[in-house]
Amino acid sequence: MQGKIEIDKNKCTGCGECVENCPGEVFELKDQKAHPVHMEECHACHTCESVCEEEAVQVNEAD
Ligand code: SF4
Ligand code: SF4
Repeated sequence: MQGKIEIDKNKCTGCGECVENCPGEVFELKDQKAHPVHMEECHACHTCESVCEEEAVQVNEAD
């Protein structure tokens, strides 16, 4: 299953937890915000949602 990632830029503090913990290396930090630059590597494990203390990541199932 592939995931579709949405980042709430107003909530993201750029802590890097999602970047560190994503098994697919989906995220990059740019300008103190997480960007899902390799969304095709996402398999919707929801780890990024779990580790984000700001609740800035939302994982949806891709169509
Ligand atoms: S874990 Fe949350 S707050 Fe931290 S960089 Fe990722 S999206 Fe932003
Ligand atoms: S759901 Fe899993 S694979 Fe997808 S971006 Fe989040 S941590 Fe990475």
